[in-house]
Order: sequence, then structure tokens, then C-alpha cells
Amino acid sequence: MADLDYEGFWKETLIQLRNDLGEEEFSGWFSDMKYLRTRFDEQTGKNGIVIGVPSAFHRDKVKSRYQNTINSKIMLLSGAEIALEYEITGKIAKNETTTPQLFQNDGEKTADTSQESPKPKKKRDKHTQMRDDYTFDSYVIGENNNFAANAALAISKNPGKTYNPCLFFGGVGLGKTHLMQAIGNYIHENSDNKVIYVTSEDFLNEYLDGIAQGKMNVFKNKFRYTDVLLIDDIQFFQDKPGVQEELFHTFNALVNAKKQLVFTCDRPPSELKKFSERLISRFEQALKTDLQPPRYDERCAILKKTAEIKNTLIPNEVIDLISKNISSNIRDLIAALNTLIAYTELMGKPVTLEIAQQRLKDTFNASRQANFSMDNIIRVVSEYFSLTPNDLKGKKRTQNIVFARQLAMFIGKEMTDYSTTEIGQDFGGKDHTTVMHSIEKIKGKLLTDPTLDSTIENLKRLIKEFSAKY
Ligand code: ADP
Ligand code: MG
Repeated sequence: MADLDYEGFWKETLIQLRNDLGEEEFSGWFSDMKYLRTRFDEQTGKNGIVIGVPSAFHRDKVKSRYQNTINSKIMLLSGAEIALEYEITGKIAKNETTTPQLFQNDGEKTADTSQESPKPKKKRDKHTQMRDDYTFDSYVIGENNNFAANAALAISKNPGKTYNPCLFFGGVGLGKTHLMQAIGNYIHENSDNKVIYVTSEDFLNEYLDGIAQGKMNVFKNKFRYTDVLLIDDIQFFQDKPGVQEELFHTFNALVNAKKQLVFTCDRPPSELKKFSERLISRFEQALKTDLQPPRYDERCAILKKTAEIKNTLIPNEVIDLISKNISSNIRDLIAALNTLIAYTELMGKPVTLEIAQQRLKDTFNASRQANFSMDNIIRVVSEYFSLTPNDLKGKKRTQNIVFARQLAMFIGKEMTDYSTTEIGQDFGGKDHTTVMHSIEKIKGKLLTDPTLDSTIENLKRLIKEFSAKY
């Protein structure tokens, strides 16, 4: 029971009491009380919270006036009966009051400073869960990510107030994690707010550990009592109902307490499969913003920024060469530049166009859209929409089948060199005018549906991955 800790519940109780009672009454009684520890009583088998009070008089007054309210709040928050015990600690110094500011000093207990003069505020250590180079300074803002980046900046300056909750979505390597951690790093550096960053996989593992070890309260206390919770790649929760349920409650607890929530996902929430409806609808109501693949000039800007950070001089024609050859994924774009920098550093030569052409030949070839079979495209698209290849090849006119079919034709035209006649053949012998009509339909939808572009990028990525395997 060593890591049992109900401090979060206590702090939340105080927040609610302050709301209920008003500042004056609240501070009259509660600002002189201090959370001391959580205690497990062997005899009764119950957990208790030990609170420090200045005097026996204070204790008795609080007990007679507020005990019932406090008990019911704690019960509601923790779902368990938690006994409240009081310890007389004398009057506490002003700077250690329990004014409900969650987790001052990054969740560590405040040291007893009552005997010492106040120290100047110490700069916080780096956040251990995030990369310190994922900041706004190193993030290039262009038309492709303008809206998302501005939302991220607004969140950083006012967590919990604007754009809460927020969801960034888009295909792999488009900067979701970087942007999310830029928010986390900014808040961590510029405020006392507690920031948690987790991948969905880690969230799941901690949840499973919590269940296996009978310590769900530790899990809940951690994730429900933070100021900022960043959860990366929520598509990972597909088909995992238990953790989805837990996420739903975490979501509600934090939003109700006006704490900031940020999620990333590789697709629009409406396309999450095997996901609880009520969670999807929560995500739908969040501020959703997608990250698009960067255009040529944005790719150049990202490469220049990367070179600048690495303090390396890269000629413009090399920037141009890489930007022209790698278009769909920023991770690949930067990796190509890094390969080149590493090579030239090793050889002690400057980066030139010739070296770049020679060293990156294979990389460019691999990223080119080559040899995608219509069969693979049909398979991936039908799977994505929970349909079968025969649905797409057949004649059924159900709305979702028609849409998936049109999309597969559109992507087929983009990813292969096949003519509309050949594509029609692969869709169960349809006429080329049908294919042309489908392509036009999708082009029209692209103008009105802001999420379609990222769905297409996502499908293309899945098709590439699938084609690499088969
Ligand atoms: P995702 O999470 O969407 O898969 P990442 O955030 O991991 O993508 O980004 C992949 C790489 O591209 C990282 O190295 C990241 O720093 C870089 N990157 C992405 N977007 C930008 C940007 N706008 N400016 C600078 N670097 C970027
Ligand atoms: Mg990521």
C-alpha cells in the first residue's frame, strides 16, 4: 500500500468546496488545513486521508460544519469510502497553504519551508516524458498546419480555457507528436501546471497494471488530477473497450475540472473503428484540426530549419532536390537530410548537389509511387471502411459502398499510371466514364469536406505499407 496516495482527491474536494462556499468562507477554514498523507488502517481495512489542522478548536468546528459535505464529495470523487483523520500541526506558514492549485512543483510535495526564508523560484527541470527539441521554436508553420499550430499556441498560453479539449489528426510523420509536445514543453516551462504526456500504448499499459495489481486508484489519481493531459495516437485504443471506458471517465473528470486535454489521432474520429460511440461523440465535439502534408515551399522551410538547428550549411539546390523528391511525410524528409549531413560529416566534406543526388538516389526511388496494384488499393480501401473487395467491385449502390468505391478509384488514378479504362476493368468491368465521374465526385467533396484530404493521405500511406509487405 506504499504508493497509495489520495492527495488528488483531497485537492479536488477543496476545489469543489471553494466553488460551493465562496472564497471568503472557504479560506476562513480550509486554507489553514494541509494534506499530510494517505493511511491504510489495518484494523478496519479502510483507507484514510490525514489532514493537518492548526488547533483542536479548528478541527471540531470543521467536523461539525463540513464533515458530511466533505465525506460525500470524497465518496463521489473516489468511489470509495475514505475516512478523514485530523492531526494538530499548529498554524502553518502562509506560503504552504492548501489553496487548491493542483500539484504545485510538478506534483512533488512541497518541502517544509516554514523555518526558512522563501527562496527564489527555481526553474523547472526538463520534462522527462517529452523530447526537449519538440518546441514551437523548431516547428515550421505553413498553410498545411496553420490552424493547428495556432490552436496549439493558444492552448499553451491558456491551458484549459481555449480550445479544450483539442484533437490533432493526420497521417504519419506530419508533426502531430511534435506539436503536442511543443504544447507540453511550453506549459511545463512557463507555468507551475502539471503536464502529463503519454502514448496511448503507455496509457493502456498503466491501466492494465492498475487492474492487475488492484491499484486503479493510483491510476485514476494520476490521470484525473493533472492540469494538462496529452494522449498521443488514440487510434491505438480501437477494439479495446476496457481502456476506452476508463478514458471516457478521465475525459469527463478533466473537462469538468477545466483541465486541458489534447489528443492526436491518425484519422478523423468519425473513422475510428470499434470505438465507443460516446467517446467518438466527445471527440467530435472537441476542437478537431488536421495536419496536412506540407507543400513544396513548406518542405523547403522545414529542411532549412533543420539545417539551421544542426548548424550545417546546406545549398539551396540540395534543399530543392530533397523537397521535390519527398513529399508526403515530414519524417522521411528530415531523415533524408540527416543521412546526408551524417555522411558529409563523416567524410569531412561539405554537402553538395552531386553528393546529395548520389547518396539519396535509393531513398528517392523508394518514396516514389511505384507499382501499386489496383488489387492492393481495393483491398486496403475496402478494409478501411469495413467492406469487402467484392463490395467495391460489385454494383451495390449503398451510400457507404458508393463512397468507398469512388475513393478507391480516385486513389487508383493518383497512385498508378493506369488509365480510367483500365481502372474500370479492375472494378468488375465498369465503364471509364463511371471512373471519371467518381473522380470528379471526390474532387468536389475535397472542396467541401475538410477531413477528406487527410483520409486520402492516410489511405495512401496504408496502401504503401500494405504493398511493401505483399
Ligand atoms: P507524427 O506524430 O504526426 O507521426 P512527428 O511529430 O513525429 O509526426 O513528426 C515527424 C518528424 O517531423 C519529427 O522529427 C518532427 O520534428 C518533424 N516535423 C513535423 N512537422 C514539422 C514542422 N512543421 N516543422 C519542423 N519539423 C517538423
Ligand atoms: Mg506521432
